[in-house]
Amino acid sequence: MRCIDVPDAPRRQCPGCFRTLAVNGNNFHADALCADGFTRKCADCRNAAERLRYRLEAPERARRVRERRAERRAYFESTGRYEAA
Ligand SMILES: [Zn+2]
Repeated sequence: MRCIDVPDAPRRQCPGCFRTLAVNGNNFHADALCADGFTRKCADCRNAAERLRYRLEAPERARRVRERRAERRAYFESTGRYEAA
């Protein structure tokens, strides 16, 4: 069997946690807009950031749901098709 030089998988340092990781779908999120198809920050950093953002935006999300419900209620009341339970 011949020995073939297999180049190492590309690795990249995450600018968030400074770990150097192999660039693949396990360590980095896929993003078609990034040069090599993966995001700059590693998946762990991105997940943590998204978790934080989701929590921080919870009040705003709840406010939008309340507004939308009030809107729809007003609409159905105006059409006479709304009956409060
Ligand atoms: Zn990271």
